[in-house]
Amino acid sequence: MPEFFADAEAAFDDARFVIWGYPFDGTACFRKGTADGPEAIRFHSHNFESWLNELGLDLRDIPAHDWGDVEAVADQAANNSAIEEIVGRIGAAGKFPVGLGGEHSLTPPAVAALKRQFPELGVVILDAHLDYRDGYQGAKWSHAATTRRVSEIVGPERVRSLGIRSLSREELHTAREDGLHYVETGWTELREHLSDLVEAIDGPLYLSLDMDAIDPAFAPGVGTPEPFGMTPYEVLQVLNFLSDRLVGFDCVETCPPADNGNTAALAARLVRHTIGAVAKAQPRDGAD
Ligand code: MN
Ligand code: MN
Repeated sequence: MPEFFADAEAAFDDARFVIWGYPFDGTACFRKGTADGPEAIRFHSHNFESWLNELGLDLRDIPAHDWGDVEAVADQAANNSAIEEIVGRIGAAGKFPVGLGGEHSLTPPAVAALKRQFPELGVVILDAHLDYRDGYQGAKWSHAATTRRVSEIVGPERVRSLGIRSLSREELHTAREDGLHYVETGWTELREHLSDLVEAIDGPLYLSLDMDAIDPAFAPGVGTPEPFGMTPYEVLQVLNFLSDRLVGFDCVETCPPADNGNTAALAARLVRHTIGAVAKAQPRDGAD
């Protein structure tokens, strides 16, 4: 059993944020190892101060709980049920779920659970890959099909992918047919894109951060590295910009066997920033 995420020491009932892990890499198509992601992110979370200077707050003042890991098995249908169950329980209790991957197939069942609670849910995905295949290598719930599955759950018009630079010709055609909006890297007007996104989609948002959205220079330890990526600071801007609308978050595809430690550290730091940014942007009376 991995150690707990740093500063996530509240009991479930007292917590506003609940961290859960998904140690699974069953459909990883290039190199395995993302199953070790949750443990590595938890380990590196202890490297950092609880005081988040960029936000002017202390994570020790924000009650968070580390629920532990979903028991991942080979059968993805069983895993999906387990994820829907825990994320649904977190959401129904009025708490904010924070998923640690594991591969990106974590996201569709998490979105499905929150969609039941928030019928108008929109989803923002940061990813190098469009993930719009209708399954891959025989797996309908492949990590290469995440955005396709999420689009089926909330509707492609309520999905925005950012950081895209890898897709097949077939995915390009299908995405155009379905009206999926996505933003490639190389963009210079990040805030303009984010403003358009926020205006185009009303209501609560789920944010999924595939770590390979970030350039391999900053995040080398991912399952499928792809050059020409986002900087960590651009990701931080996205987190800050969306923080007042978020109702759920995940950070996936950290692959410790391919990592020099920097990717898990960056993932842990971004998770910590997300908790702080959401708490600051969505203040609650008497708490935080
Ligand atoms: Mn992905
Ligand atoms: Mn990816």
